[in-house]
Amino acid sequence: MKAFKMKPLSTNERCPLFEIIEIETINRCTRKCPFCKWSYTKRSDEKKMVMPMKTIDKIISNLKKMNFKGRISWFSTNDPFLDKRMVEIIRRTRLNLPHAWISLATNGELLTNKKYRTIRKAGLDALEYNIYDEKGKIRSETIINDGAIVFQDKRPDIANFDNFENMAGKVDYGSKTNYNNFCNRPFQMMIVKPDGNVILCCSDMHGEVVMDNINRNSLEQIWNSEMYQIYRRELKGGNRKNLKLCSKCNYCGGKHSVKYPF
Ligand code: SF4
Ligand code: SF4
Repeated sequence: MKAFKMKPLSTNERCPLFEIIEIETINRCTRKCPFCKWSYTKRSDEKKMVMPMKTIDKIISNLKKMNFKGRISWFSTNDPFLDKRMVEIIRRTRLNLPHAWISLATNGELLTNKKYRTIRKAGLDALEYNIYDEKGKIRSETIINDGAIVFQDKRPDIANFDNFENMAGKVDYGSKTNYNNFCNRPFQMMIVKPDGNVILCCSDMHGEVVMDNINRNSLEQIWNSEMYQIYRRELKGGNRKNLKLCSKCNYCGGKHSVKYPF
């Protein structure tokens, strides 16, 4: 792999603004799925981080100024229902961003039918409910689906692990092919961690490639930062091999649906 150089670019290659933003408000999960960092990281080794409400409001206000109409997902490598403020976060998001698509994904361990009704009323458009074991399957049957939930059965005897991602080489799952092609993620989505760091993509589960921090700059400034441009330039050229994490990643590089999970 070539040495990674952080040299500023001379040209400003602007990219259309992101269509998807994932914001993790708490870096914890109830599970330890084998294809996820929580199976490799002891919770005690990762300092607990909770995004302050004022940072959450700042993000909402920034998106409002942009008149954002894409997808806002208040989770990343965590379970969003561990954040007790989640209903209020969804309520504030909906109030300020009436045309955005607001969705979450959960393992369902902390979800009840009552909580689901409450969060839907607060403005959630869609919920991906991942079933990882028999208890999850039984729990899923207690939630009345009003048409806004997609149940994804990922129980070991049902899921096709060949299609799973290797999280930029950090987990031993999925195809062993290291693609060296274009990848859409840094052109379409932004990922924010609880400390405000904006990181490369959702496969960067340890937050190793930091673009900038939302406490320093606006979302638009970060989206057009030099670090993003360096990654986009190399990915456009099909040069994953020059990039930290991308060189070991088995993600095929395709586009995401803004309204996922629908
Ligand atoms: S439920 Fe999701 S975030 Fe939690 S361990 Fe499993 S894959 Fe990771
Ligand atoms: S190639 Fe992999 S690590 Fe690189 S941006 Fe795409 S998904 Fe992320």
